[in-house]
Amino acid sequence: QATKIDPSAPIHLNVVKSTNKQGVIEAVTRPIQKTSQIMHLVNPIIENVKSKGDAALIEYTAKFDGVQLTTPVLEAPFPDEYLEGLTEEMKEALDLSIENVRKFHAAQLQKEPLVVETQPGVICSRFPRPIERVGLYIPGGTAVLPSTALMLGIPAQVAQCKEIVFASPPRKSDGRVSPEVVYVASQCGASKIVLAGGAQAVAAMAYGTESVPKVDKILGPGNQFVTAAKMYVQNDTQALCSIDMPAGPSEVLVICDEDADEDYVASDLLSQAEHGIDSQVILCAINLSEEKIIRIQEAVNKQALALPRVDIIRQCISHSTIILCDSYEEAFEMSNRYAPEHLILQINNANDYVELVDNAGSIFVGAYTPESCGDYSSGTNHTLPTYGYARQYSGANTSTFQKFITAQNVTPEGLKNIGKAVMCVAKVEGLDGHRNAVKVRMEKLGLLPQGF
Ligand code: NAD
Repeated sequence: QATKIDPSAPIHLNVVKSTNKQGVIEAVTRPIQKTSQIMHLVNPIIENVKSKGDAALIEYTAKFDGVQLTTPVLEAPFPDEYLEGLTEEMKEALDLSIENVRKFHAAQLQKEPLVVETQPGVICSRFPRPIERVGLYIPGGTAVLPSTALMLGIPAQVAQCKEIVFASPPRKSDGRVSPEVVYVASQCGASKIVLAGGAQAVAAMAYGTESVPKVDKILGPGNQFVTAAKMYVQNDTQALCSIDMPAGPSEVLVICDEDADEDYVASDLLSQAEHGIDSQVILCAINLSEEKIIRIQEAVNKQALALPRVDIIRQCISHSTIILCDSYEEAFEMSNRYAPEHLILQINNANDYVELVDNAGSIFVGAYTPESCGDYSSGTNHTLPTYGYARQYSGANTSTFQKFITAQNVTPEGLKNIGKAVMCVAKVEGLDGHRNAVKVRMEKLGLLPQGF
């Protein structure tokens, strides 16, 4: 919710000392997620798509996106006319980003099965298989997001998913999705682009329609309607569909010391603040002089005023904070407790401190590593856990698009080694059928121990 802020006031962050426990708690409290409150709007949309299929998709796209479609799906190979407006420079930029993301994610691909002989004759193995069909949601309401398309599409292709489906709301101006997204979709080997957004797009991919294939997993960020629909379908056994992770507003925590360049610090804070008024921006400043804090605040104000999204930034910075820390250890402890989606280290010998990080989505190490590089082109993934979920979730990676199957092969020697233990545990659990499956074999092999 936007609050009223004096537009003539300087754009400065709040400042609290790390010893001010209440102040720190307020600074790091994330905005409450409202997903459950909009379920009553999302449920009928999902039900309608389930029962009416393409007709419902077409109806909602007309209602919410102002586009009247005859078919809700664009099939590969995508017509050249959909690439109109894609400049050579943009194509080269996307190609470089795609190449780097592909390189980094291909290196993560586990090819050989993992094989461990836990006891002589007991061979356990684990091997990956791609998730067969994935649905990738690319937000389109207020921005063009080819970077999200490639951050999800390339790992899906690397993992060898058989069917990659994109969904994105069409533009009101011409009823198409942006040429950049179409280009990325073709580079990822996507089979279809669903021209729909919001809960209806999620429902179409989760349950399938006449023209949209049902997928096994849905990934990608989106607004509250998208998030609520993802939560709904992952809990519906009829959909049999998983999702990537709960999504919240984007956030950054920057750790800096006295030697950090104030312009770099300010630019990193602002590149996050421009995302949205509910984005969170925190600076953990280690032993900073008062003059340095003033210089950072001045740099924030000066740079913010020159950015087109200054009004969003003003709102975001009004609830963003500089936490004054007394040591490097304290700053990292603070960061680990917050578990930021993005963690930027603008400190001396930054690389040496990475080992202190226990919870973070992705780390940007050193003065010359702005978050923007990871957002677009370096090769790491930008689909990261928000809202403190970095405590238990990883960002999207190649294994996000795989599942792992285990296998075991027990020989008579192996059965001799573990059979007694299996029968003992089965007995205490009262599962005689389990016990018997081992017993009949051991009997025939003449291996049954005394007392069984
Ligand atoms: P969107 O594509 O997520 O949502 C647009 C769709 O919302 C529309 O097509 C429409 O179907 C639906 N909708 C709009 N009003 C509705 C209503 N009243 N009832 C039902 N449905 C309605 O695009 P957006 O709205 O611009 O949101 C993009 C979101 O994605 C933002 O919240 C942004 O922060 C987030 N995002 C996050 C990341 C990340 O990595 N964390 C990256 C990019 C975008």
